[in-house]
Amino acid sequence: MTQPILPKLKHMTPAFAVDGMLYISGYGQVAEIPDDNGAIHRMCRLLDGTRTAAEVYCDLAADYPEITAAEVEAAIAQFDESGFLINGAVTPDGLLDDYEQARWARNINFFGSYCSLADNQFQYQRTLLDARVTLLGLGGLGCHILQDLAAMGIGHVRVVEFDRVEMSNLNRQILYRDADIGQPKIDLAVDRIRQFNPRIDIEKIPRRIENTDDVLAAVDGADVVISVADRPKMEINHWVNEGCVRAGVPLVTGGLDTQRAVYFTMVPGQTGCIECWRLGVFRTDQVSATLLAEKRERQIGGDNAAFVPLVTMVTGLLIGETVRLLTGVAPPVAAGRLMQLRFDDYEMTEYETWKRLPDCPVCGTSTPTGPPATLKTNQLA
Ligand SMILES: [Zn+2]
Repeated sequence: MTQPILPKLKHMTPAFAVDGMLYISGYGQVAEIPDDNGAIHRMCRLLDGTRTAAEVYCDLAADYPEITAAEVEAAIAQFDESGFLINGAVTPDGLLDDYEQARWARNINFFGSYCSLADNQFQYQRTLLDARVTLLGLGGLGCHILQDLAAMGIGHVRVVEFDRVEMSNLNRQILYRDADIGQPKIDLAVDRIRQFNPRIDIEKIPRRIENTDDVLAAVDGADVVISVADRPKMEINHWVNEGCVRAGVPLVTGGLDTQRAVYFTMVPGQTGCIECWRLGVFRTDQVSATLLAEKRERQIGGDNAAFVPLVTMVTGLLIGETVRLLTGVAPPVAAGRLMQLRFDDYEMTEYETWKRLPDCPVCGTSTPTGPPATLKTNQLA
């Protein structure tokens, strides 16, 4: 059965009048509409989610007989286009049970802020509950990401981690305690997340990623992959990139570089991949190419600095990118471009962007079908 459309002015976009002007505010912006006779203000009052557009017109025409139905319809369409309206007839029936409505009520309100009359804010949460995300790595970034995936209501999560807890992890790895030193991270993390959200379906892969086939096994069936695994430093990004391209699963990845955080989204078949980036650097940027080769030769990785303010900033960005990809509520920000956030000023900038290369051995259109060529070098630091 098709739901009726009962336009409702969003709670967070209130309308108010000042000196013959009507203002509708919301999300940091204010719209200004001339309203000498108060008709538009009156219409806003009628947009309370209990009337169809035709009923709004009838009630409005009682006070303002000169107004036409076409004018009311046009005004409602314009309000909808501006993001002021939600459909008051939409219900969570068949999408969310009582527990889900209560637990994710604030998410639903957030999604509602993006909805138009044609949308259903409850559907966004249903999409998250049905989503399958693979998380590679349960270190500093992975702990925060897993906690937030569970909080947000991602229904199915597969985690991959081989490491054990060390004392130096505890400045940022919030799922572990002093008493956990020496214990496997994956067991501790999963136990705690199940206590936090008993409904989450969470699968453990307690092993080290050692090649692309391991990645393919870990990402099988996933809607999005989040990779924050960082060992082996010089190889893992390439295995993950190739695995995600071959599986056709979007990849969201990022990390810390001492004083800055970076993140990047790869959508197979749409954006350039990590190997496209590497090829581009080697073809066009002699300085960076030499630096990469030097890092690989000397196995230079990070300096083991990891500061929690940057950890939580970048994990928020990675989670946000994941929700964008899963729900389409807004387009991904970092698709095909490496974004950078510096601790000095928290300024977010595009650090690098690159295109998909037709001759990329991993994702290129000229790549023969079947397993792509083995990467010869793995130099993305
Ligand atoms: Zn590529």
